[in-house]
Amino acid sequence: MPMEFVDHHIRDKYLKVDRLPHIWCPGCGIGSILNAFLLGMEKAEVDPDQVIVVSGIGCTGRVPGYLNMDTFHTTHGRAIPFAVGLKLARPDMHVVVFSGDGDLVTIGGNHFIHAARRNNDLLVILVNNFNYGMTGGQVGATTPTGAITTTTPYGNLERPFNIPYLAAAAGAVYVARWTSLHVRRLAWSIAEAFHRKGFRVIEVLSQCPTTFGRRNKMPEGIDMLRWYRDNCVIQHYADPKDAEIVPGRKIIIGKFIDITDGVETFEEKAWNLVRKFLGDRIEIPFRKGLRCPKEIPG
Ligand code: SF4
Repeated sequence: MPMEFVDHHIRDKYLKVDRLPHIWCPGCGIGSILNAFLLGMEKAEVDPDQVIVVSGIGCTGRVPGYLNMDTFHTTHGRAIPFAVGLKLARPDMHVVVFSGDGDLVTIGGNHFIHAARRNNDLLVILVNNFNYGMTGGQVGATTPTGAITTTTPYGNLERPFNIPYLAAAAGAVYVARWTSLHVRRLAWSIAEAFHRKGFRVIEVLSQCPTTFGRRNKMPEGIDMLRWYRDNCVIQHYADPKDAEIVPGRKIIIGKFIDITDGVETFEEKAWNLVRKFLGDRIEIPFRKGLRCPKEIPG
């Protein structure tokens, strides 16, 4: 008999509760990150009717399926180009890309760097679970050196992408990293990023006990959370170069980049060009009232 879900959580109003239970494994971090996202949206006082969430494929890619707002579940690696088109057509909306590391910086890596270079006005929530979880735990561009995956049974030989450095070097105007343990700070960071414009990236290190943790001596979700508790250090405005995840070294989390002055988005440039040719016949519906609600607690 199907389980019945009634209003039992303060943020159920943002969810399609009839789609529950969700597909994520017991102990997975994606649910906490989704809750932090909804909390961040609330803290930012953003109207959910003004938010569009886009994902690609993967465990995190399933997030939009549970959200009771405008959402798009697109093809693998293509969430960003889809969101770019959406934002160009609707500059008045908050367009959020909510997807995983495999989708955004491995298969879709090229789109990620070019959207940062162009300064497309997107908020990217990148959930990093260090592997391709949904397809069984293959190595990806974020898998730490030496980690065991199904395709690196003797340890990963490659160096992982340092996502904050990659995003900052490519031109992102807001770059932060949190974990599925630091949900309060993550929510504030999301709230803050809602009130910025341009290409904004928040990497969230998540726990994936099923395909990553159990092959790397962290078989339960709580084991990976303990790893974050014991190995993460909050250091705002650290040099993103130092954010590389290296076994045996502290993981730097916090806000790395926050540029607010002189930021011009690709969409502003594009719509200003349109206005140059069409004059006042066209009204540009940009987002209004950008502000920072509060500092992230330290
Ligand atoms: Fe979460 Fe990993 Fe399971 Fe995917 S495979 S739902 S990331 S625990």
